[in-house]
Amino acid sequence: MATTQPRIAIIGAGPAGLVLLLTLHNRGIPATIYERDSHASERGLPSGPLDLGWTSGQRALRENGLQDAFTANSRVEGHEYRMLDSQGNLLVYSNFEDVPKDDLRPEIDRPRLRQIMLDAVPSELIKWRYTLTSAKSLGDGTHQLAFGNGTTAVVDILIGADGAHSRVRPLVSTERARYVGLNGPDLSLAPGVIEREDMADLRALIGKGLMVAQDDDRELNAQLTSDGRVRGNAHFRAPELWTAPPGGIEALREELREVYKGWSPVLVKLIEHCEPDLTDRRPLYQLPVGHSWAHVRGVTLIGDAAHVMTPYAGAGANISMLDGLELGLVISKAVNEGASDAERETAVANWEKRMFAAAAQWAKVAEDNMEAMISPDAPASAKARWELFLQEGGRQEDYSTGDAA
Ligand SMILES: Cc1cc2nc3c(=O)[nH]c(=O)nc-3n(C[C@H](O)[C@H](O)[C@H](O)COP(=O)(O)OP(=O)(O)OC[C@H]3O[C@@H](n4cnc5c(N)ncnc54)[C@H](O)[C@@H]3O)c2cc1C
Repeated sequence: MATTQPRIAIIGAGPAGLVLLLTLHNRGIPATIYERDSHASERGLPSGPLDLGWTSGQRALRENGLQDAFTANSRVEGHEYRMLDSQGNLLVYSNFEDVPKDDLRPEIDRPRLRQIMLDAVPSELIKWRYTLTSAKSLGDGTHQLAFGNGTTAVVDILIGADGAHSRVRPLVSTERARYVGLNGPDLSLAPGVIEREDMADLRALIGKGLMVAQDDDRELNAQLTSDGRVRGNAHFRAPELWTAPPGGIEALREELREVYKGWSPVLVKLIEHCEPDLTDRRPLYQLPVGHSWAHVRGVTLIGDAAHVMTPYAGAGANISMLDGLELGLVISKAVNEGASDAERETAVANWEKRMFAAAAQWAKVAEDNMEAMISPDAPASAKARWELFLQEGGRQEDYSTGDAA
């Protein structure tokens, strides 16, 4: 057991922060998450489910005893993938039945993923309605935190798991997440709508997994969730501050009809029948590929705070969860072996270097995929990119920094 227990604060209860908390807690290291949301099921989570890989997101759960919970709450058939053109013609199809078990990426709804992790830690370890408003170095490796609810805390180890627009990041880096030029609303069909007879044509295009339709700088995507909804996004070139026009859902539909003019009426059903209250805007951001920093005593970043990338590699949540696992293993090993503060800092600094390299690899894939998929040459460029991906042997699942249990 540890001889001294550092005071550890994790900012953010997203996939990265929750895996880190689980990993520390399961290895006897106390830590607290401070989260902006007021409760676990607050909306605002990006729309669709997440596909988790065996050696990445699933590994983070498995090494914390949650493989069975994941299997019970995920949908293996969600691995299915269809790439379409704007007329609904099938360009690429990937089935789940022919895929070896270890390469399968079952889909889990974000609220369920959050809940299975919350259920595995004592509830008092997560402080809801704690928005970090400032974090200040006290000069001796400790940091003073201030929260929107008026409280403060001083901690020995501060971990920013607070997403793309991290408030912790300025302590280690001058970089900001940059808008990539793509914006648009979440789109969803209410539970059961996709089962209606008049939706049979759209149902066939979506299948059991993810459907992505692209053409000339515009995309519509959709996938089933476990509550019978269809959730997805419209993404198109628009200013960073693009927002739904005033006038409610009809005004938004009118604008989207213009953006997707000439698209198959079957795909446009996602717009015509979307739920009015699930249309949050979803601008996309990324940090520069290869974002890194010189280690700063007492503070680090994980997940999107360290390496936000666009969703086009399907990697963000997976590597965020691996960050949580691997940093948790590094810190718990140091503390449980009675390492000095300096030795623990060196271990974290070494982990950061491995994380930078692993994240850079996936950030590059996401950037290249985005350029092929959202392009004046799409869908031909997107299809060519998929063919290259297959020629290169498909998804290389090894995101790990090498920090084993
Ligand atoms: C449309 C879309 C689709 C995606 N699809 C996929 C996919 O299929 N597969 C995949 O692997 N990845 C996907 N991603 C990426 C994935 O969502 C992220 O990489 C992942 O959520 C990052 O996890 P995180 O914990 O680092 O950050 P987040 O999920 O952003 O969590 C950060 C947490 O910090 C909290 N927070 C923020 N600021 C503060 C503050 N000041 N004080 C306290 N708390 C704060 C937030 O409320 C939140 O709970 C997608 C992203 C988008 C936008």
